[in-house]
Amino acid sequence: MNKKPLDINSKKSSGGKRYFKNIGFIILLVLFGLVLFASSTQNNSNIKTIPLTEMISNANKGEYKSLTVIANSNEVDITPKNSNTASLKTYTDPNVSLKSLGLDYSKVQVNYKPQTSSTSVWLSILDSVLPVLIIAGILFFILRSAQGQGNQALSFGKSRARLYGNEKDKVSFKDVAGSEESKQDLEEVVEFLKYPKKFAALGAKIPKGVLLVGPPGTGKTMLARATAGEANVPFFSISGSEFVEMFVGVGASRVRDLFAKAKKNAPCIIFIDEIDAVGRKRGSGMGGGHDEREQTLNQILVEMDGFEQGQSVIVLAATNRADVLDPALLRPGRFDRRVNIGLPDRKDRLAIMKVHFTKKPLSKSVDLDALAAKTAGSSGADLANIANESAIIAARNSHNEITESDVTEAFEIVAIGPERKNKVMNEEDKRITAYHEAGHALVGHVLPDSDPVHKITIIPRGGTGGVTWFIPPEDRVFNSLVQFKDILARGLGGRIAEEIILGPDRITTGAGSDLKGASELARDMVINQGMGKKLRDQVFRVDDGMMIDRLVHERDYSEETAKIIDEEVESLITEAANRARLVIKANMNYLEKLKEALLEKETVDAKEVAEILTGAKVPKNALLY
Ligand code: ADP
Ligand code: MG
Ligand code: ZN
Repeated sequence: MNKKPLDINSKKSSGGKRYFKNIGFIILLVLFGLVLFASSTQNNSNIKTIPLTEMISNANKGEYKSLTVIANSNEVDITPKNSNTASLKTYTDPNVSLKSLGLDYSKVQVNYKPQTSSTSVWLSILDSVLPVLIIAGILFFILRSAQGQGNQALSFGKSRARLYGNEKDKVSFKDVAGSEESKQDLEEVVEFLKYPKKFAALGAKIPKGVLLVGPPGTGKTMLARATAGEANVPFFSISGSEFVEMFVGVGASRVRDLFAKAKKNAPCIIFIDEIDAVGRKRGSGMGGGHDEREQTLNQILVEMDGFEQGQSVIVLAATNRADVLDPALLRPGRFDRRVNIGLPDRKDRLAIMKVHFTKKPLSKSVDLDALAAKTAGSSGADLANIANESAIIAARNSHNEITESDVTEAFEIVAIGPERKNKVMNEEDKRITAYHEAGHALVGHVLPDSDPVHKITIIPRGGTGGVTWFIPPEDRVFNSLVQFKDILARGLGGRIAEEIILGPDRITTGAGSDLKGASELARDMVINQGMGKKLRDQVFRVDDGMMIDRLVHERDYSEETAKIIDEEVESLITEAANRARLVIKANMNYLEKLKEALLEKETVDAKEVAEILTGAKVPKNALLY
């Protein structure tokens, strides 16, 4: 979906218009040049001025055919008899007759002419006004084009709100798959906008602000637009980060402009995307307090308070971090309503995928339901991405419909990045990778609280050497301590397999990200989940933040506790490593078999893993209960 917003601020000139503008500019320049040339030549070229006495004596000698005296001026045009001679003129005093100056009227014909004809009046006016006009025109064009190119620079105080109003851009609730509860909540907003009188009659106050909260890609922006579409009202959209730009004071003036525009277009919706960019808690020391941001935020608050009842402008705002918002934003009369949008569950994932596959030729063999099952934790945007990627892959493979293998490949690309098939690994690296991945898979497979293996590959993907995937059979809300412990053990399974096969001193860097993941998980278990041994049921607060130039690490526990936390983390990791070691040592033949299969096929799927590993067992001392 690629919708073009209608930018209400800039009148973008198309390529054609700009072309004409340039031509016009050149024509003006040429005209200007011509006028300069003409006015400079007219006076002093062909016509030669001679003294009055010379004219009279020459006339009396019979050298001139005629003289033309221009009335009320002191000019006399001379027409010589010899047409080869240049035209001449002279100046006379109009109050003194030529006769009294000694001109012999029998030698030359003298004509009198009224001073100027009407055309020459116009011509002379034009003559003096045209250059001014042309200069003004040139200036106008220069300014215009400067504005066209640097539009932003001249209008930075204006809000960059985009107005979506085109019929073809319209999104409605039926385009948003799933999210039934969020839609119900927003249905209310639609009612308010459609029938404001109904609510006013009963004395109900229409809410001013609704906050949409949810992880990235869950369709917050889409829902906001769908709300406007359902209510059939204009939709002003601006992103929080657009408020905060180069100049101090710009943000606040943009807010003012945005709300002024919206009030003119009421009923309507203002949508502030990523409001956390401006709406963070004030004076929290983050970034040393950002004045510009605070001013912008204050202006938003002022504008929201300034709405009168019955104005039917509703402000929707989206964020994925409601916890960092300034409490002032959340007070009654501001964003006092909240709509939570979560990651889609399996049913919703299927619905979203159906929406995104409808316009694509999908082979009947593709099992979208199975794909929905595999994609726990994916957002709507991820799923849309999978659908799009499938179509690209199908096209690249010259299929005329999207096949199961196209969809699977797309899913894997979106989940961990594209295969790096042409990144060659030497034989030894390949062997180590095969052992490493087999280690993960073996440990994960046999431990009772780990998820089943979905797929193993030793083809490099994204940034990794190989991948072992575990996918939960169904969506899960909570994780138990034993599940976490099994996840830790299988995460270390790769490193431990290397250690057993290569010897403790030949372990490789292939386990770097595994170890990082394990240590982060262990720390989270102890600090945030109260899952430590000694520190059971206690949680600890750690605030990471930036003070002007250094990272601050604010914590609410003592040095002693910090030490105990470190010990707890270490003991979780050690325990996990030990369990992985016990499992692998007890199942060496299975490790070898899996490694062989990997070296041969490079990718082994869930069914094959289950076959190869039938009979593998957990040794008693690796069990937790
Ligand atoms: P957010 O604003 O929450 O980050 P978006 O609204 O920008 O997410 O969603 C990104 C894209 O994901 C949408 O353009 C749409 O293609 C897809 N998407 C997300 N949720 C849904 C949904 N419930 N139904 C259909 N498509 C969805
Ligand atoms: Mg968004
Ligand atoms: Zn690994």
